[in-house]
Amino acid sequence: MVAAGEVVERPFNVVKELVENSADAGATRISITVENGGVGMVRVTDNGRGILPDDLPVAIQRFATSKIQTADDVYNVRTFGFRGEALAAISSVSDFSIKSCRKGENGAEIRIKHGGKPEILPAPELEGTTVEVRSLFANVPARLKFFKSFSAEEREIAKFVRSFSIINPHIAIELDTNGKQAYIATAGMDMVARGVQVFREKDIVKGFAEYEDMKLDFVTSLPSVQRYRKDMIIVGVNGRVIKDPAIVQAVVTAYHRVIPDGKFPAAGISLHVDPEKVDVNVHPAKTTIKLLDNRDIFSFVHHNIKNRLDDAGHDQGVAMTTSSGFIPPSERTYSNSNNDPSTPQPTSGKYDHQFASVEYNIASEMEVVEYAHSNEASIVETPDEHGEIGAMRVVGQLFDTVIVCEKDGEAYFIDQHVAHERVLYEKFVREMSMSVPSVVMYEPVLIKAGDDELAIAEESKDVFEQFGYEIEAFGGDSLKVGRVPTDVLNRDIEAQVKGILADLIEHRKDTGVDYRALVMSCKAAVKAGDHLEMHEMRRLISDLFTTDNPYTCPHGRPIVFKQPADFFMRKFGR
Ligand code: ADP
Ligand code: MG
Repeated sequence: MVAAGEVVERPFNVVKELVENSADAGATRISITVENGGVGMVRVTDNGRGILPDDLPVAIQRFATSKIQTADDVYNVRTFGFRGEALAAISSVSDFSIKSCRKGENGAEIRIKHGGKPEILPAPELEGTTVEVRSLFANVPARLKFFKSFSAEEREIAKFVRSFSIINPHIAIELDTNGKQAYIATAGMDMVARGVQVFREKDIVKGFAEYEDMKLDFVTSLPSVQRYRKDMIIVGVNGRVIKDPAIVQAVVTAYHRVIPDGKFPAAGISLHVDPEKVDVNVHPAKTTIKLLDNRDIFSFVHHNIKNRLDDAGHDQGVAMTTSSGFIPPSERTYSNSNNDPSTPQPTSGKYDHQFASVEYNIASEMEVVEYAHSNEASIVETPDEHGEIGAMRVVGQLFDTVIVCEKDGEAYFIDQHVAHERVLYEKFVREMSMSVPSVVMYEPVLIKAGDDELAIAEESKDVFEQFGYEIEAFGGDSLKVGRVPTDVLNRDIEAQVKGILADLIEHRKDTGVDYRALVMSCKAAVKAGDHLEMHEMRRLISDLFTTDNPYTCPHGRPIVFKQPADFFMRKFGR
């Protein structure tokens, strides 16, 4: 059941596996020493729970893991590793030693030279574990040729340690390379402090969000930070540093029109999800994992970062007026950065959008565009973490079709499809000249298409592009959808694209921008009968009430109807 595979490709993998083992063992302090690119030596010492002397020989056997008891556990692993082959693999290709001691017990050490016979020695009773790996790959010269250089390997290791320190702020970690301290993150540093240190940027805010069984802790940069590369967007799932292009993209798109295209923020994204939603076993070296139900996690990350940025903008606007002076970025960072639910948000909710946009004029021209548009509906604010929009509270969804809200003693019933259609329509019309922000899909959608559909798709490629879709022919009779607009909530991409194609075929001649925006928004909008998550509803309702006309859909149908509390009370004879 446990996928076999080579774990140890490079010294970097050794460091990653050992550090993750330490974290699994509950360590709060991890020290790493690296010599000569890790080929010379890697040593990892932790203060975790240690291994009993009798268990030590077992720990280095292939497929030995203390993390799975039953077959079902494979799908429910909260710890970092569970394949039980790292120590076995590492000890077979190095001069290996593991010393460990559990509190109050005897300690022991095992040495293995390049997969030879294990030698067991008593070890001093220091609580925790030290693994030392020397002369890596001395018995497999073919492996050695993989190295670009020692220094490149050392950089990769340092990058991992820095990333790990942001994702795991509760662990103190230090790295020594060739006798010099390369990095240190102390116990007292929270995620922001670590972000400041790793990104070498001061304008960083943090946020927290929780939704069902997902938890998100993040730090993210303010618009003043503009990087040329995405490599400072760090992603961790359940404490493990991973590569996940979809989540990176969720962060990048949250900055759309906040920072210029082609520039990127710095961010640390730490997700904790139900282990059943994660397939950590996809890659033997576990730098990529697969998130099941990726779509959900994408919008969760995207919207929370976006909201946090909006808040940060507002905080700054308000702060600037009250103190009428310049607030150093460092102070702003720390005093306004707290989006932690345990600390109440400042009551700066009721500010004037008009004003905020003036403030932004100074800060960022890009931002003005977005704020200028929200002026019309200045009573509406972005939702805070409880999902309140102004005084509007999203109550829930009826029949997977109608969103129920409450505001000022009235119940609002909102048709989700036409509401979304209105939101998209205005967005499409407004953004027509800039092309709609879109996201790359984790797994492209393949659609079987007829000849006429293939032809019109080819013909209308640029139309699709303008609306944020990327569509291309894919093998004889298929279309591949690689990107979709950011704001699309509708999960049935195939039905969406088929609907658009059908309409384009029928109305070939009607190329007016307005007409097209209408078709696109209708097809892309969430359908009646689609289940929406709470955060999606909040987003949709807050977007709806920033449109020019939240009450009527582009086709003229009503979007909202209201009933006062009275109506309900009377029904109950109150
Ligand atoms: P896995 O981590 O996948 O279980 P490993 O080969 O990495 O497999 O480790 C084997 C076992 O050795 C682990 O399940 C754990 O019980 C024990 N172990 C390894 N490193 C440590 C450590 N630093 N502290 C405590 N126990 C450890
Ligand atoms: Mg492990």
